Amino acid sequence: MIPLSVPHLKGNELKYVADCVETEWVSSAGQYVGRFESEIARYTGASHAVACVNGTAALHISLLLAGVQRGDEVLVPTVTFIAPVNAVNYVNAEPVFMDCDDHLNMDPAKVADFLKNECRWEGAELQNKKTGAQVRAIIPVHVFGHPVDLEPFMALAQTYNLKIIEDATESLGSSYIKGFYAGKKTGTIGHFGCFSFNGNKIITTGGGGMIVTSNQGLADRARYLTTQAKDDEELFVHHSVGYNYRLTNVQAAIGCAQMEKLDESVETKRRHFRAYQEGLKDVSGLSLLAEPAYGRSNYWYYTLMVDSKMFGLSNKELRTHLKKEKIDSKLIWMLNHRQRPYQDCQAYRIEKADQLYDTCLSLPCSVGIAAQEISQVCEAIQTAHEKQ
Ligand SMILES: *Cc1c(COP(=O)(O)O)cnc(C)c1O
Repeated sequence: MIPLSVPHLKGNELKYVADCVETEWVSSAGQYVGRFESEIARYTGASHAVACVNGTAALHISLLLAGVQRGDEVLVPTVTFIAPVNAVNYVNAEPVFMDCDDHLNMDPAKVADFLKNECRWEGAELQNKKTGAQVRAIIPVHVFGHPVDLEPFMALAQTYNLKIIEDATESLGSSYIKGFYAGKKTGTIGHFGCFSFNGNKIITTGGGGMIVTSNQGLADRARYLTTQAKDDEELFVHHSVGYNYRLTNVQAAIGCAQMEKLDESVETKRRHFRAYQEGLKDVSGLSLLAEPAYGRSNYWYYTLMVDSKMFGLSNKELRTHLKKEKIDSKLIWMLNHRQRPYQDCQAYRIEKADQLYDTCLSLPCSVGIAAQEISQVCEAIQTAHEKQ
């Protein structure tokens, strides 16, 4: 079976983990946690980085720090893994679902329309006219690693006094090459950026996450909230509700080793994208989702858009065919405004997401996939098409 995505642990992982075990620094204190934080800060260009147990926890803490309160609303994409939507729920706020653009990322034009036409000022509060709730933040997700067009989002944040939490969990290593943010990495532009080191991401610590911010005070507060909100360690005084969200030294040790290979992994992923593009260029009815012109993607996922009429099979049928050929592939997430916990929440003019939902299929994308395996996947797709 060619798997969709498996970790690539071919560097100093074992050496650093052995160091943790031999020195008996295995828990959430220990030098690798700080080192991993510095590595992420250096790599992304963020001023501060705070490690935590996973990307979902990073989003949860960021929402708290953004001042999102019970009953507030947060604009989220309907096209995303559900984690950022759940994080909104954890702070007792309500998601408002937004449509996507051609790159599957949240559509800034529709968000602008929503804020302009569906909201009004009540003093200093931006209120959703329909619900009366205060709109407090936006969570743009860099879907599949492709950078969101953040320039308009940052302008909207300024105009409407909103916080931007970048869900960069899929996009470590992606950046902007054109426009105002040229040279910047995803995750470092909004008020907060969140990363994930889950097993399927471009680098992994088994499980892990990181919050980055340019604000020292917020970074300190993030560190405080992720470590049980200790105000006096000796007397066990806690002035806030804290969380046990700290990453362990063992996980951070794996992260440090993974960071040594990140640039190489991004290059490899980009090369593999070109190999898929080359291998599939003559198959009609297919296109691969490419990076936007203003950005450089880490190509976390290679996503096919299947035109079932021209190709002869739907995305689901192609998936079944590939499975028979022992090739794993993945459909896109069910749209979040249709998920049971959120089906009664507001969804604003979802059109493109509905169209694209039935076309997407993501192909094997492990960093360690062999060139010959990519050829095998392309041939299986070609054959599926020719049989129609
Ligand atoms: C992976 C992922 C997360 C969550 O990260 P975990 O580390 O698994 O908690 C959040 N958002 C998106 C879009 C993701 O793909």
